Amino acid sequence: MDIKHWLTAMLIALLLPLVADADWFDEIRDGGDKEALYRTLYYMPKGGDLHNHLSGAVFAEWWYELALAQEARGYEYYTKVRISNCREFGGNAFTFAPYLLLFRNISALEYAELDACEQGEHKRLADLDDREKSAWMNSIRLDKAHEGREEFFQTHWQRLNALARNPWLQAETLVKNLQAYAAEGMVYVEYQIPDGSYEGPDGELINGPQAFDILRETLARRDVRDLGVTVRFQLPILRFLPNAEDQLRRVYKLVHENPDLLVAVNMVGREDNDKGYPARFLPTLRELRQQYSGVRLSIHAGEVDEPNEHVRDTLLLGADRIGHGINLISDDDTMLLMRHGPYLVEINLISNLLLEYVNDYSEHPFPEYLRTGIPVALSSDDRGMWESTMTDEFYVATTEFRLSWEEIKTLGRNSLEHAFVSDDNKERMLREYDERIVRFERQMQRNGIAKLGPMPKTRGFVCSRYQLCK
Ligand SMILES: [Zn+2]
Repeated sequence: MDIKHWLTAMLIALLLPLVADADWFDEIRDGGDKEALYRTLYYMPKGGDLHNHLSGAVFAEWWYELALAQEARGYEYYTKVRISNCREFGGNAFTFAPYLLLFRNISALEYAELDACEQGEHKRLADLDDREKSAWMNSIRLDKAHEGREEFFQTHWQRLNALARNPWLQAETLVKNLQAYAAEGMVYVEYQIPDGSYEGPDGELINGPQAFDILRETLARRDVRDLGVTVRFQLPILRFLPNAEDQLRRVYKLVHENPDLLVAVNMVGREDNDKGYPARFLPTLRELRQQYSGVRLSIHAGEVDEPNEHVRDTLLLGADRIGHGINLISDDDTMLLMRHGPYLVEINLISNLLLEYVNDYSEHPFPEYLRTGIPVALSSDDRGMWESTMTDEFYVATTEFRLSWEEIKTLGRNSLEHAFVSDDNKERMLREYDERIVRFERQMQRNGIAKLGPMPKTRGFVCSRYQLCK
Protein backbone atom coordinates (compact mmCIF):
# COMPACT_ATOMS: atom_id res chain seq x y z
CA MET A 1 0.00 0.00 0.00
CA ASP A 2 1.54 3.34 -0.99
CA ILE A 3 1.34 6.43 1.19
CA LYS A 4 -1.62 7.95 -0.68
CA HIS A 5 -3.73 4.83 -0.23
CA TRP A 6 -2.63 4.51 3.39
CA LEU A 7 -3.72 8.09 4.05
CA THR A 8 -7.07 7.45 2.37
CA ALA A 9 -7.59 4.30 4.43
CA MET A 10 -6.82 6.26 7.61
CA LEU A 11 -9.22 9.00 6.56
CA ILE A 12 -11.98 6.46 6.00
CA ALA A 13 -11.29 4.87 9.41
CA LEU A 14 -11.45 8.28 11.10
CA LEU A 15 -14.66 9.26 9.37
CA LEU A 16 -16.51 6.00 9.85
CA PRO A 17 -17.90 6.82 13.33
CA LEU A 18 -19.31 10.07 11.91
CA VAL A 19 -21.18 8.46 9.08
CA ALA A 20 -22.27 5.09 10.46
CA ASP A 21 -25.65 6.47 11.37
CA ALA A 22 -27.79 6.46 8.25
CA ASP A 23 -30.95 8.08 9.60
CA TRP A 24 -30.57 10.63 6.85
CA PHE A 25 -31.33 7.94 4.28
CA ASP A 26 -34.41 6.58 6.09
CA GLU A 27 -35.77 10.11 6.28
CA ILE A 28 -35.36 10.66 2.54
CA ARG A 29 -36.76 7.22 1.69
CA ASP A 30 -39.83 7.57 3.92
CA GLY A 31 -40.28 11.34 3.62
CA GLY A 32 -42.72 11.21 0.74
CA ASP A 33 -40.65 13.42 -1.58
CA LYS A 34 -40.12 11.13 -4.56
CA GLU A 35 -37.80 13.52 -6.36
CA ALA A 36 -35.59 13.87 -3.28
CA LEU A 37 -35.17 10.09 -3.15
CA TYR A 38 -34.59 9.88 -6.91
CA ARG A 39 -31.92 12.58 -6.81
CA THR A 40 -30.21 10.84 -3.88
CA LEU A 41 -30.10 7.55 -5.79
CA TYR A 42 -28.99 9.24 -9.01
CA TYR A 43 -26.08 11.13 -7.48
CA MET A 44 -24.94 8.40 -5.06
CA PRO A 45 -21.87 6.40 -6.16
CA LYS A 46 -22.81 3.03 -7.64
CA GLY A 47 -20.78 -0.06 -8.38
CA GLY A 48 -21.08 -2.14 -11.54
CA ASP A 49 -23.71 -3.37 -13.95
CA LEU A 50 -22.93 -7.05 -14.42
CA HIS A 51 -25.84 -7.98 -16.67
CA ASN A 52 -26.31 -5.80 -19.69
CA HIS A 53 -26.84 -6.64 -23.37
CA LEU A 54 -25.24 -3.81 -25.34
CA SER A 55 -27.71 -3.76 -28.25
CA GLY A 56 -30.59 -3.83 -25.75
CA ALA A 57 -29.05 -1.01 -23.70
CA VAL A 58 -29.43 1.65 -26.39
CA PHE A 59 -32.26 4.17 -26.14
CA ALA A 60 -34.32 4.56 -29.30
CA GLU A 61 -33.29 8.16 -29.91
CA TRP A 62 -29.62 7.13 -29.60
CA TRP A 63 -30.14 4.41 -32.20
CA TYR A 64 -31.75 6.89 -34.56
CA GLU A 65 -29.12 9.60 -34.20
CA LEU A 66 -26.13 7.23 -34.27
CA ALA A 67 -27.46 5.12 -37.18
CA LEU A 68 -27.86 8.23 -39.34
CA ALA A 69 -24.35 9.40 -38.38
CA GLN A 70 -23.04 6.14 -39.86
CA GLU A 71 -23.75 7.55 -43.33
CA ALA A 72 -20.31 9.17 -42.97
CA ARG A 73 -18.86 5.63 -43.08
CA GLY A 74 -21.00 4.66 -46.06
CA TYR A 75 -23.78 2.86 -44.19
CA GLU A 76 -27.35 3.61 -45.20
CA TYR A 77 -30.41 2.14 -43.50
CA TYR A 78 -34.00 1.59 -44.58
CA THR A 79 -36.99 0.65 -42.47
CA LYS A 80 -40.36 -0.87 -43.29
CA VAL A 81 -43.21 1.61 -42.96
CA ARG A 82 -46.06 -0.23 -44.73
CA ILE A 83 -47.10 -3.72 -45.86
CA SER A 84 -48.39 -3.94 -49.44
CA ASN A 85 -49.01 -7.69 -49.74
CA CYS A 86 -45.94 -8.08 -51.96
CA ARG A 87 -45.41 -11.76 -51.20
CA GLU A 88 -47.31 -14.85 -52.27
CA PHE A 89 -49.47 -16.68 -49.75
CA GLY A 90 -47.69 -19.32 -47.69
CA GLY A 91 -44.35 -17.55 -47.27
CA ASN A 92 -42.40 -17.18 -44.04
CA ALA A 93 -44.26 -14.31 -42.45
CA PHE A 94 -43.08 -14.48 -38.86
CA THR A 95 -39.59 -15.88 -38.25
CA PHE A 96 -35.99 -14.94 -39.11
CA ALA A 97 -36.78 -12.21 -41.68
CA PRO A 98 -40.44 -11.72 -40.77
CA TYR A 99 -42.35 -10.16 -43.64
CA LEU A 100 -45.25 -9.02 -41.48
CA LEU A 101 -43.14 -6.85 -39.21
CA LEU A 102 -43.13 -3.08 -39.45
CA PHE A 103 -40.01 -1.03 -38.67
CA ARG A 104 -37.59 -3.84 -39.39
CA ASN A 105 -34.32 -2.12 -40.30
CA ILE A 106 -32.33 -3.27 -43.31
CA SER A 107 -29.07 -2.22 -44.91
CA ALA A 108 -28.82 -0.57 -48.33
CA LEU A 109 -27.59 -3.92 -49.62
CA GLU A 110 -30.65 -5.78 -48.32
CA TYR A 111 -32.82 -3.03 -49.79
CA ALA A 112 -31.19 -3.39 -53.22
CA GLU A 113 -32.05 -7.08 -53.26
CA LEU A 114 -35.80 -6.46 -52.77
CA ASP A 115 -38.21 -6.30 -55.71
CA ALA A 116 -39.87 -2.99 -56.57
CA CYS A 117 -43.02 -3.83 -54.58
CA GLU A 118 -41.07 -4.49 -51.36
CA GLN A 119 -38.78 -1.53 -51.91
CA GLY A 120 -41.97 0.54 -51.94
CA GLU A 121 -42.73 -0.70 -48.42
CA HIS A 122 -39.50 0.83 -47.10
CA LYS A 123 -38.24 4.30 -46.43
CA ARG A 124 -34.75 5.61 -45.79
CA LEU A 125 -34.33 6.05 -42.04
CA ALA A 126 -33.29 9.64 -42.71
CA ASP A 127 -36.54 10.36 -44.58
CA LEU A 128 -39.07 9.34 -41.89
CA ASP A 129 -41.68 11.98 -41.14
CA ASP A 130 -42.42 12.90 -37.51
CA ARG A 131 -45.20 10.35 -37.12
CA GLU A 132 -43.11 7.53 -38.60
CA LYS A 133 -40.07 8.52 -36.59
CA SER A 134 -42.04 8.43 -33.35
CA ALA A 135 -43.49 5.02 -34.27
CA TRP A 136 -40.02 3.77 -35.25
CA MET A 137 -38.70 4.70 -31.81
CA ASN A 138 -41.63 3.10 -30.03
CA SER A 139 -41.14 -0.07 -32.09
CA ILE A 140 -37.99 -0.86 -30.06
CA ARG A 141 -39.43 0.18 -26.69
CA LEU A 142 -41.60 -1.95 -24.46
CA ASP A 143 -43.85 1.00 -23.80
CA LYS A 144 -47.43 -0.22 -24.11
CA ALA A 145 -49.64 -2.21 -21.77
CA HIS A 146 -50.26 -4.92 -24.39
CA GLU A 147 -46.53 -5.41 -25.01
CA GLY A 148 -44.54 -7.91 -23.00
CA ARG A 149 -42.47 -11.03 -23.37
CA GLU A 150 -43.61 -11.91 -26.91
CA GLU A 151 -43.06 -8.41 -28.26
CA PHE A 152 -39.61 -8.35 -26.71
CA PHE A 153 -38.31 -11.74 -27.79
CA GLN A 154 -40.06 -11.99 -31.15
CA THR A 155 -39.93 -8.45 -32.57
CA HIS A 156 -37.42 -6.12 -30.94
CA TRP A 157 -34.25 -7.98 -31.93
CA GLN A 158 -35.64 -8.83 -35.34
CA ARG A 159 -36.30 -5.12 -35.92
CA LEU A 160 -32.78 -4.04 -34.99
CA ASN A 161 -31.41 -6.48 -37.57
CA ALA A 162 -28.87 -4.56 -39.69
CA LEU A 163 -28.27 -1.93 -37.01
CA ALA A 164 -26.86 -4.58 -34.69
CA ARG A 165 -24.39 -5.80 -37.33
CA ASN A 166 -22.44 -2.54 -37.71
CA PRO A 167 -19.35 -2.73 -35.46
CA TRP A 168 -18.71 1.05 -35.54
CA LEU A 169 -22.31 1.77 -34.64
CA GLN A 170 -21.93 -0.73 -31.79
CA ALA A 171 -18.85 1.14 -30.56
CA GLU A 172 -20.68 4.49 -30.65
CA THR A 173 -23.62 3.06 -28.69
CA LEU A 174 -21.06 1.88 -26.14
CA VAL A 175 -19.74 5.44 -25.77
CA LYS A 176 -23.25 6.84 -25.21
CA ASN A 177 -23.90 4.20 -22.56
CA LEU A 178 -20.63 4.88 -20.77
CA GLN A 179 -21.29 8.63 -20.72
CA ALA A 180 -24.68 8.00 -19.13
CA TYR A 181 -23.20 5.51 -16.65
CA ALA A 182 -20.41 7.87 -15.63
CA ALA A 183 -23.05 10.54 -14.92
CA GLU A 184 -24.90 8.03 -12.71
CA GLY A 185 -21.78 7.25 -10.69
CA MET A 186 -21.11 3.78 -12.11
CA VAL A 187 -17.53 2.47 -12.12
CA TYR A 188 -17.84 -0.86 -13.97
CA VAL A 189 -19.90 -2.57 -16.70
CA GLU A 190 -19.87 -5.96 -18.37
CA TYR A 191 -21.61 -5.90 -21.75
CA GLN A 192 -22.79 -8.92 -23.69
CA ILE A 193 -21.99 -8.51 -27.40
CA PRO A 194 -22.18 -10.76 -30.49
CA ASP A 195 -19.07 -12.75 -31.41
CA GLY A 196 -19.34 -12.25 -35.13
CA SER A 197 -21.29 -11.70 -38.33
CA TYR A 198 -20.68 -7.98 -38.29
CA GLU A 199 -20.67 -6.28 -41.68
CA GLY A 200 -19.15 -3.32 -43.47
CA PRO A 201 -21.07 -0.72 -45.53
CA ASP A 202 -20.88 -2.84 -48.69
CA GLY A 203 -21.94 -5.99 -46.92
CA GLU A 204 -18.41 -7.33 -46.48
CA LEU A 205 -18.00 -9.64 -43.50
CA ILE A 206 -16.27 -8.23 -40.41
CA ASN A 207 -15.39 -11.00 -38.00
CA GLY A 208 -15.40 -10.96 -34.20
CA PRO A 209 -11.70 -10.17 -33.67
CA GLN A 210 -11.93 -7.21 -36.10
CA ALA A 211 -14.99 -5.88 -34.24
CA PHE A 212 -13.17 -6.35 -30.90
CA ASP A 213 -10.32 -4.17 -32.22
CA ILE A 214 -12.83 -1.41 -32.98
CA LEU A 215 -14.00 -1.63 -29.36
CA ARG A 216 -10.39 -1.52 -28.14
CA GLU A 217 -9.71 1.61 -30.20
CA THR A 218 -12.88 3.22 -28.89
CA LEU A 219 -12.06 2.44 -25.26
CA ALA A 220 -8.56 3.85 -25.76
CA ARG A 221 -9.96 7.23 -26.86
CA ARG A 222 -9.11 10.03 -24.44
CA ASP A 223 -12.74 11.16 -23.97
CA VAL A 224 -13.80 7.58 -23.22
CA ARG A 225 -10.96 6.86 -20.79
CA ASP A 226 -11.72 10.10 -18.97
CA LEU A 227 -15.19 8.77 -18.11
CA GLY A 228 -13.53 6.49 -15.56
CA VAL A 229 -15.78 3.50 -16.18
CA THR A 230 -14.02 0.12 -16.47
CA VAL A 231 -15.52 -2.08 -19.21
CA ARG A 232 -15.35 -5.78 -19.99
CA PHE A 233 -17.35 -7.92 -22.41
CA GLN A 234 -19.03 -11.32 -22.46
CA LEU A 235 -19.85 -13.40 -25.52
CA PRO A 236 -23.27 -15.07 -25.32
CA ILE A 237 -24.57 -18.05 -27.28
CA LEU A 238 -28.20 -18.50 -28.30
CA ARG A 239 -28.84 -21.62 -26.27
CA PHE A 240 -31.75 -23.27 -28.07
CA LEU A 241 -30.25 -23.38 -31.57
CA PRO A 242 -29.39 -26.79 -33.07
CA ASN A 243 -25.73 -25.78 -33.44
CA ALA A 244 -25.38 -24.08 -30.03
CA GLU A 245 -22.51 -26.43 -29.06
CA ASP A 246 -20.46 -25.26 -32.05
CA GLN A 247 -21.19 -21.68 -31.13
CA LEU A 248 -20.11 -22.41 -27.55
CA ARG A 249 -16.78 -23.83 -28.78
CA ARG A 250 -16.20 -20.74 -30.91
CA VAL A 251 -16.96 -18.12 -28.25
CA TYR A 252 -15.11 -20.02 -25.51
CA LYS A 253 -11.94 -19.97 -27.61
CA LEU A 254 -12.41 -16.26 -28.44
CA VAL A 255 -12.73 -15.35 -24.76
CA HIS A 256 -9.62 -17.38 -23.97
CA GLU A 257 -7.70 -15.58 -26.74
CA ASN A 258 -8.81 -12.01 -25.86
CA PRO A 259 -8.49 -11.80 -22.06
CA ASP A 260 -7.89 -8.03 -22.01
CA LEU A 261 -11.38 -7.38 -23.35
CA LEU A 262 -13.47 -10.55 -23.09
CA VAL A 263 -13.97 -12.19 -19.72
CA ALA A 264 -16.87 -14.60 -19.88
CA VAL A 265 -19.29 -16.71 -21.84
CA ASN A 266 -23.03 -16.37 -21.32
CA MET A 267 -26.11 -18.21 -22.58
CA VAL A 268 -29.14 -16.27 -23.74
CA GLY A 269 -32.48 -16.98 -25.38
CA ARG A 270 -35.85 -17.61 -23.82
CA GLU A 271 -35.64 -20.34 -21.24
CA ASP A 272 -39.17 -21.54 -21.91
CA ASN A 273 -37.71 -23.07 -25.08
CA ASP A 274 -36.65 -26.43 -23.63
CA LYS A 275 -34.13 -27.08 -26.37
CA GLY A 276 -31.68 -24.82 -24.51
CA TYR A 277 -31.84 -26.57 -21.11
CA PRO A 278 -28.60 -26.03 -19.13
CA ALA A 279 -27.46 -29.65 -18.69
CA ARG A 280 -27.26 -29.96 -22.48
CA PHE A 281 -23.97 -28.03 -22.38
CA LEU A 282 -22.15 -29.97 -19.66
CA PRO A 283 -20.27 -32.36 -22.00
CA THR A 284 -19.15 -29.51 -24.27
CA LEU A 285 -17.94 -27.38 -21.36
CA ARG A 286 -16.04 -30.31 -19.91
CA GLU A 287 -14.42 -30.85 -23.30
CA LEU A 288 -13.49 -27.13 -23.51
CA ARG A 289 -12.04 -27.10 -19.99
CA GLN A 290 -9.58 -29.77 -21.12
CA GLN A 291 -8.02 -27.15 -23.43
CA TYR A 292 -8.70 -23.61 -22.28
CA SER A 293 -8.13 -21.59 -19.12
CA GLY A 294 -9.31 -18.20 -17.95
CA VAL A 295 -12.90 -18.34 -19.22
CA ARG A 296 -15.56 -17.41 -16.67
CA LEU A 297 -19.24 -18.26 -16.93
CA SER A 298 -22.18 -16.03 -16.12
CA ILE A 299 -25.32 -17.69 -17.39
CA HIS A 300 -28.99 -16.76 -17.58
CA ALA A 301 -30.86 -19.27 -15.45
CA GLY A 302 -34.18 -19.40 -13.65
CA GLU A 303 -35.70 -16.67 -15.84
CA VAL A 304 -38.73 -18.86 -16.30
CA ASP A 305 -42.23 -19.33 -14.88
CA GLU A 306 -42.10 -22.99 -13.85
CA PRO A 307 -40.16 -24.36 -10.88
CA ASN A 308 -37.18 -26.39 -12.11
CA GLU A 309 -33.52 -27.01 -11.27
CA HIS A 310 -32.01 -24.81 -13.95
CA VAL A 311 -30.05 -22.74 -11.42
CA ARG A 312 -28.51 -25.81 -9.82
CA ASP A 313 -27.70 -27.31 -13.24
CA THR A 314 -26.15 -24.01 -14.32
CA LEU A 315 -23.88 -23.96 -11.27
CA LEU A 316 -22.85 -27.48 -12.25
CA LEU A 317 -21.87 -26.09 -15.67
CA GLY A 318 -19.30 -24.00 -13.79
CA ALA A 319 -21.11 -20.66 -13.65
CA ASP A 320 -19.94 -18.18 -10.99
CA ARG A 321 -22.90 -15.89 -11.56
CA ILE A 322 -26.54 -16.55 -12.37
CA GLY A 323 -28.55 -14.14 -14.53
CA HIS A 324 -32.03 -13.49 -13.06
CA GLY A 325 -32.45 -16.59 -10.86
CA ILE A 326 -36.15 -15.89 -10.38
CA ASN A 327 -37.16 -19.51 -9.85
CA LEU A 328 -34.24 -20.24 -7.52
CA ILE A 329 -36.79 -19.48 -4.80
CA SER A 330 -38.53 -22.77 -5.63
CA ASP A 331 -35.38 -24.91 -5.29
CA ASP A 332 -34.71 -25.31 -1.54
CA ASP A 333 -31.42 -27.20 -1.76
CA THR A 334 -29.87 -24.70 -4.16
CA MET A 335 -31.11 -21.80 -2.02
CA LEU A 336 -29.26 -23.30 0.94
CA LEU A 337 -26.18 -23.85 -1.21
CA MET A 338 -26.10 -20.22 -2.28
CA ARG A 339 -26.43 -18.51 1.10
CA HIS A 340 -23.33 -16.41 1.93
CA GLY A 341 -21.72 -17.06 -1.46
CA PRO A 342 -19.67 -17.81 -3.41
CA TYR A 343 -22.10 -17.36 -6.31
CA LEU A 344 -23.99 -14.17 -7.16
CA VAL A 345 -27.45 -13.65 -8.65
CA GLU A 346 -27.72 -10.75 -11.11
CA ILE A 347 -31.11 -9.21 -10.33
CA ASN A 348 -33.04 -7.41 -13.08
CA LEU A 349 -36.14 -5.93 -11.43
CA ILE A 350 -37.47 -3.87 -14.31
CA SER A 351 -36.86 -6.55 -16.90
CA ASN A 352 -38.61 -9.19 -14.80
CA LEU A 353 -41.74 -7.08 -14.42
CA LEU A 354 -41.97 -5.97 -18.05
CA LEU A 355 -41.32 -9.49 -19.36
CA GLU A 356 -44.01 -10.83 -17.02
CA TYR A 357 -41.84 -13.17 -14.92
CA VAL A 358 -43.50 -11.46 -11.95
CA ASN A 359 -46.93 -9.87 -12.10
CA ASP A 360 -46.12 -7.56 -9.25
CA TYR A 361 -43.05 -6.81 -7.14
CA SER A 362 -44.62 -8.55 -4.15
CA GLU A 363 -43.87 -11.79 -6.09
CA HIS A 364 -40.20 -10.98 -6.65
CA PRO A 365 -37.69 -13.14 -4.71
CA PHE A 366 -35.03 -10.39 -4.58
CA PRO A 367 -35.63 -9.33 -0.93
CA GLU A 368 -35.63 -12.97 0.18
CA TYR A 369 -32.25 -13.54 -1.48
CA LEU A 370 -30.81 -10.25 -0.20
CA ARG A 371 -31.99 -10.76 3.36
CA THR A 372 -31.01 -14.44 3.67
CA GLY A 373 -27.43 -13.67 2.60
CA ILE A 374 -27.47 -14.81 -1.03
CA PRO A 375 -25.12 -12.41 -2.87
CA VAL A 376 -27.13 -10.24 -5.26
CA ALA A 377 -26.49 -7.14 -7.35
CA LEU A 378 -28.83 -4.96 -9.36
CA SER A 379 -28.38 -4.86 -13.13
CA SER A 380 -30.21 -3.45 -16.13
CA ASP A 381 -30.50 -6.23 -18.76
CA ASP A 382 -31.97 -4.34 -21.77
CA ARG A 383 -32.57 -0.88 -20.38
CA GLY A 384 -32.82 0.78 -23.79
CA MET A 385 -35.95 -1.23 -24.46
CA TRP A 386 -37.37 -0.66 -20.95
CA GLU A 387 -36.59 3.09 -21.11
CA SER A 388 -34.83 2.89 -17.75
CA THR A 389 -31.52 3.55 -15.99
CA MET A 390 -29.45 2.05 -13.16
CA THR A 391 -30.88 4.73 -10.88
CA ASP A 392 -34.32 3.36 -11.76
CA GLU A 393 -33.29 -0.15 -10.66
CA PHE A 394 -32.24 1.28 -7.28
CA TYR A 395 -35.41 3.36 -7.11
CA VAL A 396 -37.59 0.27 -7.69
CA ALA A 397 -35.62 -1.76 -5.13
CA THR A 398 -35.68 1.02 -2.53
CA THR A 399 -39.35 1.89 -2.82
CA GLU A 400 -40.74 -1.61 -3.31
CA PHE A 401 -38.59 -3.30 -0.65
CA ARG A 402 -37.63 -0.43 1.70
CA LEU A 403 -33.90 -0.93 1.25
CA SER A 404 -31.67 0.39 4.01
CA TRP A 405 -28.56 2.42 3.23
CA GLU A 406 -26.45 -0.54 4.37
CA GLU A 407 -28.24 -2.79 1.88
CA ILE A 408 -27.66 -0.30 -0.93
CA LYS A 409 -23.94 -0.32 -0.14
CA THR A 410 -23.96 -4.13 -0.02
CA LEU A 411 -25.47 -4.22 -3.51
CA GLY A 412 -22.81 -1.83 -4.80
CA ARG A 413 -19.94 -3.75 -3.24
CA ASN A 414 -21.34 -7.12 -4.39
CA SER A 415 -21.40 -5.89 -8.00
CA LEU A 416 -17.68 -5.15 -7.81
CA GLU A 417 -16.63 -8.15 -5.72
CA HIS A 418 -18.20 -10.44 -8.34
CA ALA A 419 -16.86 -8.55 -11.39
CA PHE A 420 -14.82 -10.70 -13.77
CA VAL A 421 -11.63 -8.63 -13.50
CA SER A 422 -8.16 -9.23 -12.10
CA ASP A 423 -7.65 -8.93 -8.33
CA ASP A 424 -5.72 -5.66 -8.86
CA ASN A 425 -8.57 -4.10 -10.78
CA LYS A 426 -11.12 -5.34 -8.30
CA GLU A 427 -9.22 -3.87 -5.36
CA ARG A 428 -8.86 -0.56 -7.16
CA MET A 429 -12.57 -0.36 -8.02
CA LEU A 430 -13.63 -1.32 -4.50
CA ARG A 431 -11.29 1.28 -3.02
CA GLU A 432 -12.65 3.97 -5.36
CA TYR A 433 -16.20 2.96 -4.55
CA ASP A 434 -15.58 3.06 -0.78
CA GLU A 435 -13.89 6.45 -1.02
CA ARG A 436 -16.70 7.92 -3.07
CA ILE A 437 -19.32 6.48 -0.73
CA VAL A 438 -17.64 7.95 2.35
CA ARG A 439 -17.56 11.39 0.71
CA PHE A 440 -21.20 11.05 -0.33
CA GLU A 441 -22.28 10.01 3.18
CA ARG A 442 -20.46 12.96 4.72
CA GLN A 443 -22.08 15.33 2.27
CA MET A 444 -25.56 13.92 2.92
CA GLN A 445 -25.11 14.03 6.68
CA ARG A 446 -24.00 17.65 6.56
CA ASN A 447 -26.24 19.08 3.90
CA GLY A 448 -29.01 16.59 3.15
CA ILE A 449 -30.31 16.88 -0.40
CA ALA A 450 -29.53 20.62 -0.58
CA LYS A 451 -26.12 20.13 -2.22
CA LEU A 452 -27.22 17.41 -4.66
CA GLY A 453 -27.46 18.31 -8.34
CA PRO A 454 -30.81 19.03 -9.98
CA MET A 455 -33.45 16.41 -10.73
CA PRO A 456 -32.15 14.54 -13.79
CA LYS A 457 -34.27 13.86 -16.85
CA THR A 458 -36.25 10.67 -16.21
CA ARG A 459 -37.33 8.04 -18.72
CA GLY A 460 -40.48 6.14 -19.59
CA PHE A 461 -40.49 3.40 -16.98
CA VAL A 462 -40.38 5.50 -13.80
CA CYS A 463 -42.60 8.11 -15.41
CA SER A 464 -45.42 5.70 -16.15
CA ARG A 465 -45.06 3.53 -13.04
CA TYR A 466 -44.07 6.04 -10.36
CA GLN A 467 -45.20 9.32 -11.95
CA LEU A 468 -41.62 10.56 -11.90
CA CYS A 469 -41.77 12.52 -15.16
CA LYS A 470 -39.25 15.16 -16.06
ZN1 LIG B 1 -30.19 -10.85 -19.98
